[in-house]
Formats: sequence, C-alpha cells, structure tokens
Amino acid sequence: MKVQDVLNDLQRRFPNEPEYLQAVTEVLESIEEVYNQHPEFEKSNLIERLCIADRIFTFRVTWVDDKGKINVNMGYRVQHNNAIGPYKGGLRFHSSVNPSILKFLAFEQTFKNALTTLPMGGGKGGSDFSPRGKSNAEVMRFCQAFMLELWKHIGPDTDVPAGDIGVGGREVAYMFGMYKKLAKEFTGVLTGKGIEFGGSLIRPEATGYGNIYFLLEMLKTKNIDIKGKKCLVSGSGNVAQYTCDKLIELGAIPVSLSDSDGYIYDPEGITREKLDYVMELKNVERGRIREYAEKYNCKYVPGGRVWAETGDIALPSATQNELNGDDARHLVETGCIAVSEGANMPSTPEAIEVFQKAKILYAPGKAANAGGVATSGLEMTQNSLRLSWTREEVDSKLKQIMTDIHEQCVKYGKDENGYIDYVKGANIAGFMKVAKAMMAQGIL
Ligand code: NDP
Repeated sequence: MKVQDVLNDLQRRFPNEPEYLQAVTEVLESIEEVYNQHPEFEKSNLIERLCIADRIFTFRVTWVDDKGKINVNMGYRVQHNNAIGPYKGGLRFHSSVNPSILKFLAFEQTFKNALTTLPMGGGKGGSDFSPRGKSNAEVMRFCQAFMLELWKHIGPDTDVPAGDIGVGGREVAYMFGMYKKLAKEFTGVLTGKGIEFGGSLIRPEATGYGNIYFLLEMLKTKNIDIKGKKCLVSGSGNVAQYTCDKLIELGAIPVSLSDSDGYIYDPEGITREKLDYVMELKNVERGRIREYAEKYNCKYVPGGRVWAETGDIALPSATQNELNGDDARHLVETGCIAVSEGANMPSTPEAIEVFQKAKILYAPGKAANAGGVATSGLEMTQNSLRLSWTREEVDSKLKQIMTDIHEQCVKYGKDENGYIDYVKGANIAGFMKVAKAMMAQGIL
C-alpha cells in the first residue's frame, strides 16, 4: 500500500469530507509500515474495505415545536465496521453534524473499540438538530421522531448507539422509550441509560475518569505526580465535568472550562463546590459557562479558547479541531508537560506534530477517551446477564481497561530511545485486531 495513493483516491471520491479524510490520513500514515509487512492484507484490499463504511443510513426527521411550527432535520447512522462485534458508537445532536463528521467519528470508533478489548464494532450517528434552547417537550418530540426511523436499523446484537455531544441521559431515555414502544421489546439497545432502566453505574463518569486514568499511566512513565498540577480543561459538558471531578479528587487543579460561546479561567481552581454549581448550571438549568465567571468573579473570554492560558496539563474535552498549531506551540512554550484528549480529534494534525516534536506526553482521543465506550460495553454485558454491578466493580474494570490500553500503546508505539508515540501505538494495536478479524471472515 502507498498511503498517498489511497488518500488521493479517497480525496477524489469524497472531496467535501475534510474531517473524514483527516482521520483516515492519521491512521494510514501510522499503520503503513506494519500493513506492508503483511502482503495478504494488500492482496485482499483490506485498506479500502477498512476505510469505507459498511453502510450509511440518511433520513429526514420531522417534528413539531412548541409554537406548532413543523421542523425538518437530517438524521444519520454510519455503520462502519462490525468485524469484532455489533456496531457501537454514540449519537451526536449538534447543528454542525454532517456526513463527514460522522464518518470520521465512526472510523475512529472502530479502532477505539478494538482497543478496549471488548467485542464491539464501530459506528456513529446523529442529527443537525441542536437541543440548545429547546424545551424538554421539544427535545422529547425530536428524539421520538428520530427513533421512528433509526429503530429499523439498530438492535442489541446489531447496532447499539449511545450519547455524544448534545445527547446525554435525557435524550438517551427519550430514544430508549420510543424504541421500546416500536420494537415491543425491552433490551439493551442503547447505552448511557438511566440507572433505573438498565444503565450502568459509572457510565456518566466513564469518559472523564477514563481519560484521567490514562493520563496517570502516562505520567507514571516519567515518575510525575498529578497532585498540584494546573490543568486546562475545555468544554463543560459530560466529559469536561467528570474530568474535573477526578482531577479534584486526585489533588490536581482544574482552572478552565468553556462552551461554544467562550471560556472561563479561574486561577484559584475549580473546587468541588464550584463543580457542583457547573453541573447544576449545565445539566439542569442548561445555562452558559459565562454565568460561572459572574458568580465566582473570574475571567471570562467571549469567543476565546482555553489554550491561550497556561497550564501543566491540557485536557481538550469539547470537540474536533479545537486546538491548532499555534495553541500547541503556546502550550509547549509555556511548560505544558502532557496533553490527554477527552474529545475526539480535538488537536489538528499540526498541533499533534508540535506535541510529538517537543516529546511531551500526548495521548490521542482514540486511546484516552475509550473509557466511555468501554463502560458502554460493560453496560451491554450487564444487560445481557440481567445483572447490575456495583460502582466499585465497574470502576475497577474501567481502570484495568485504561491500563491495558496504555500497555498496548507502549507495546506498539515505543521507539528505541524510549519515546512513546501514543498515536502510532493506538492506531497499530486497534488496526491489527480489526484486520485479523476481517481476514479470517473472508471477502465481505
Ligand atoms: P456534551 O454535549 O456534554 O458537551 C460538549 C461541550 O463541548 C459543551 O460544553 C459544548 O458547548 C462544547 N462544544 C461542542 N461543540 C463545540 C464547538 N463546535 N465549539 C466549541 N465548543 C463546543 O458532549 P460530551 O462531553 O459528551 O462530548 C465532548 C467530546 O468528547 C466530543 O468530542 C465527544 O465526541 C467526545 N467523547 C464523548 C464521550 C462520551 O461518553 N460522552 C465518549 C468519547 C468521546 P455548548 O454547550 O455551547 O454546545
């Protein structure tokens, strides 16, 4: 395989899908050498079969708002690859959602899920509907209308969606209710469910906690203690909140949060009490992060990004391409020692190059945020067994999974000088597992 030839071909076929091409480029560049050591892969055109989704559903979602106006949104489900298990991956509800973004997320998800060691294939879906500013009744009607189409394509052994940006416990519950009614069955068809109806303890916390467990493993390789470290966190949703939660528990100091309007910087640190306020503000009142600055009298920068500040550790937890080359240079120059991605593909290729050249610890989302889907996998297992594990049981499995993922990254990513390229490590480890399964199953 010549990576450039494959990329040129994909570029020609999907010219308007920059995020998808970005994600594919990153993976192909890091697996090229290993791939070419296996002529049988090339003979079965494994690479093209791996880059192109098994299928993509696109549908119209029609719903009525509180004023009686009829609204039309797009709905999608990308079923990327099910070589190692049922398609699995979240649903994103955000005005920016388009096929390119969902294809990149589904592609990434395939390797991430392979890394968790659990039997899950890769998928992703969503809509250009944004829950922001909508009433509960409107969100419920939208979720029901969305599921009216989606339910035909999913099932507990076929495709198991979960949450992502704009899809939290409330949205999952509304969609689960509608699926149950249409399919006339009560099964674990979605993860991230409420604890009363099949959800798993620790699932809400899992992505943020998992990211910090992974960060601890990285810091351990350099004998660095997290205690007292100043941490820049972006976003203020599910991942950002539980990232802060774990940082506070471990004695680190989160100093920033953001949303799509701007960021807050609190040099005194976001304490447990302040985090409780953020959770109420974001999850119940559905307010803006600006209100934090008004309440605690700290800096708020409208339209800005947290990477303009300084910190020992950076934890991007909002969205793709939120940290660019200039941000990365600023972070490195001002003493940042580690970057661990809670979000999917938050660093641009240029930013990744800066981190890797500076040889600071850098973990891509594919490895560092895999705790979310791993715990979704644990939720699926509990649903199949019709059992509920305790908080401690799930948390200790999550820790073990993150430690195992770190080990796989070291195995495939460590060079002769001891530098660990986590991008290469995660991509090769995930790829090899999926590749072997696809080879064994024949040409499909
Ligand atoms: P939430 O919807 O709970 O929070 C997203 C946060 O990011 C919000 O603060 C939101 O601000 C902000 N944000 C979203 N889009 C943009 C944008 N275009 N520009 C600036 N800020 C933005 O989502 P999650 O916390 O669940 O997801 C965050 C990231 O983590 C995503 O990349 C997701 O794919 C990834 N992830 C999530 C997992 C999970 O289990 N939830 C698992 C693995 C990865 P606003 O409120 O203004 O929209």
